[in-house]
This record gives sequence, C-alpha cells and structure tokens, in this order.
Amino acid sequence: MCDSIINKFQDSVSEVLIRHKSILDIISKYQESCSKVNRSIIKSATSCGCIHVDGKKQTIPETISYKELHDFMNNHVSGDLCDICKDKIEKEMGNHLFYLVALCNTLDLDLHEIFKKQCKSIDTLGKYSLY
Ligand SMILES: [Zn+2]
Repeated sequence: MCDSIINKFQDSVSEVLIRHKSILDIISKYQESCSKVNRSIIKSATSCGCIHVDGKKQTIPETISYKELHDFMNNHVSGDLCDICKDKIEKEMGNHLFYLVALCNTLDLDLHEIFKKQCKSIDTLGKYSLY
C-alpha cells in the first residue's frame, strides 16, 4: 500500500470512527457535512461579506472555439476569503473529507486509487470531460 497522506488519513479515520460506524450514520453525516461546507461558503458572502457572489447567465460569444471557452466562463465570485471564513470553510471541508473516507473504509474502497483513476480520466479526456 502506498504511504501517501491520503492512505494515512484513511487509516486514521478507520481508527477514530466509532460512534457513527453504521453506513446509515456515515451517509447521513456525509450529507450533513456537505451542507455545512455550502453553508460556510454562503455565510462568507451573506454574513461576513468578504466575498461577493453575482450569479448570472454565462455570456459566451458565438464565434468562440471550445479551447477558448475556459477564458469566458465566470465563477461568479469576487473578493477574497478573510482568514476567519477561510478557516471555517477548511474545517467544514476537512469534516466532509472525514465522512467521505469513512464511506470508503466501510465499502473497502481505496481513496488513493480513486484519486489515481480520476486523475487518469481527466488526463485522458482533458477539457472534453465537461466538468
Ligand atoms: Zn469572511
């Protein structure tokens, strides 16, 4: 087994997950943690104000090539996360990763292998993967 930080994290999660060991608890905690990630990002805009979200229709020139598309797509976020919001979002993302890894452990899936397969897929399909 590879000795990556991903494998170490997977081993650590396996050792400490006791109270929510049922896959039903893990799935519901995974869903909850995803909501908390989203909530922390939204609160950065609506409570703190360090970032601003201006969602609107993407305007793409008709004559643009597929390769140029990346330069015309907007993420609708302006500003920079303050240290407090950044810490909160990172904490929530870390918690979310914990439950993702717990799911992997319960289903005997190797997250490092999942990363490798996904990287290979992205490398193979490139921009045509349409993410
Ligand atoms: Zn902030």
